[in-house]
Amino acid sequence: MIDTLGDILRNNAYKFPDELAWVIGEDRISFRQHHDRAQQLASAVYNLGVRRQDRISVLSQNTREFMEIYSAGELAGYIVTTVNFRLAPPEMAYILKDSTPRVLFFEGRYTETVEQLRHDQPHIETYVCFGAEAPDWALSYEDFLASGDPSGAPSRPMPDDIMHLIYTSGTTGRPKGVMRTHRAEINVAQLMATELGVIVSDRMQLMMPVFHVGSRFLQLGAHLRGATVVFHYDFKPEEVVATIERERITMTHLAPTMVQAVLSVPGIETTDLSSLHTLCYSAAPMPGPVLRRGLELLGPVFLQLYGMTEGGGTTLHKRQHKPDGTAQDLKRLTSIGQAAPNVDIRIADDEGNELPVNQPGEILTRTTTHMAGYWNNSPATIAALRDGWYRTGDLGYLDEEGFLYLVDRKKDMIISGGENIYSREVEEALASHPAVLDAAVIGVKDEYWGETVRAVVVASEAVEEAELIAHCKTQIASYKKPKSIIFVDELPRLPSGKINKTILREVHGAPAPKASDNA
Ligand code: ATP
Ligand code: MG
Repeated sequence: MIDTLGDILRNNAYKFPDELAWVIGEDRISFRQHHDRAQQLASAVYNLGVRRQDRISVLSQNTREFMEIYSAGELAGYIVTTVNFRLAPPEMAYILKDSTPRVLFFEGRYTETVEQLRHDQPHIETYVCFGAEAPDWALSYEDFLASGDPSGAPSRPMPDDIMHLIYTSGTTGRPKGVMRTHRAEINVAQLMATELGVIVSDRMQLMMPVFHVGSRFLQLGAHLRGATVVFHYDFKPEEVVATIERERITMTHLAPTMVQAVLSVPGIETTDLSSLHTLCYSAAPMPGPVLRRGLELLGPVFLQLYGMTEGGGTTLHKRQHKPDGTAQDLKRLTSIGQAAPNVDIRIADDEGNELPVNQPGEILTRTTTHMAGYWNNSPATIAALRDGWYRTGDLGYLDEEGFLYLVDRKKDMIISGGENIYSREVEEALASHPAVLDAAVIGVKDEYWGETVRAVVVASEAVEEAELIAHCKTQIASYKKPKSIIFVDELPRLPSGKINKTILREVHGAPAPKASDNA
């Protein structure tokens, strides 16, 4: 019976010992090899005095060691906490202090960063380094692993034990530590495996950072069915394309910005991508034109996933056909899909009252894949989980057939002169202008209007602010059009591909000078 994540590892090692669990760079690792190394690592960690539900942490890009550390936690019941490698040292320090791991595993390239942090992390007793020579205050990973007993996991988790303490992307503020249990993760794995139709012969390509849930959920779904995961250290569009051909990839997972980059790889039209049958994407909205071109070259199945660290997978949208040109079909293309089989969705107002179809409100979900709560933060847990419903902080509406449309994040919605303006709608209007490569919209404080709309735009060619504003007026109501536009070379993004609006507001959110200031 599979009721903790360690059961997936044991099951695969027993049923498919010599089949490939992982292809990681030059390494081709069987289920048996992966299981045995993870078990030995679990024992080495136990020998340090670390026990079930103690935290161990990892700071790494997508590496073999990272997955072995996850698996050691799966087998022995340690809570694995992850640190986003792109964070600045004070932000990392915050996550480590919040999660209080006893062991920190880190990739050698981060030695200097860890050196800076470690003087102020008294709960970390042991540092283990991999991928480069260990400094004298850390153990080397391979030596450490060899110190463990390969013959048995020292302890076992219970289904409702915490497996992950995963920090949210931090799009709307400080990242929050989300506690996810073995039971919830198995439900996620089952959902992914079923909805993607994963079978044992599949080869799933993953390159998004595995410290976020997107990549991790799909990996669990693949391994639940004994499929192979082809794992990239990081995202290089040319490598993604070459690997699909070389490894006969059947499923891949990309953020929308990555789809765009992959579609622009020279020679993609003549590369043999015939093995690929499913492209999953998630985390951020996909611009319509990219989706349309993607449907021609990649796929044929496009599966959009909408979910979050706290909730798990929430909706799925499967597309197999190119748009047939009808208004209904083109609109459907923009939906994030229908509720996953284990999810109930309710659209509610601020008081939690259910709203009718086609009316936007906050998306609430009830599922078997919810978090157990936020770590060290009961007030946030109580605010987020009420009567079994999780408040996503996302705004959306359902149509008559239960297709969900995302309109904005609650915190990104702009209220100007008493009218609600969804930043996403303005962004889409801007993106439909041929000179616009990328666009983000924020609210700027204004004495008269409360807030006004400001766009930050990456343009592919010279274009006037006035022209873009006029273009928006042809797409959306006039009160929603940007009042000012700032042109930049690039928008700040999070590792998950999301636009970092916190930075954007900091850098470009200053109110426009009043006319009188110019006089
Ligand atoms: P924080 O909670 O710290 O502000 P975050 O919400 O970005 O950060 P995650 O849990 O990684 O952290 O991301 C979940 C959010 O990502 C969702 O609430 C939603 O806003 C957005 N998202 C997820 N999937 C999609 C999708 N398919 N299309 C558009 N947006 C998506
Ligand atoms: Mg969130």
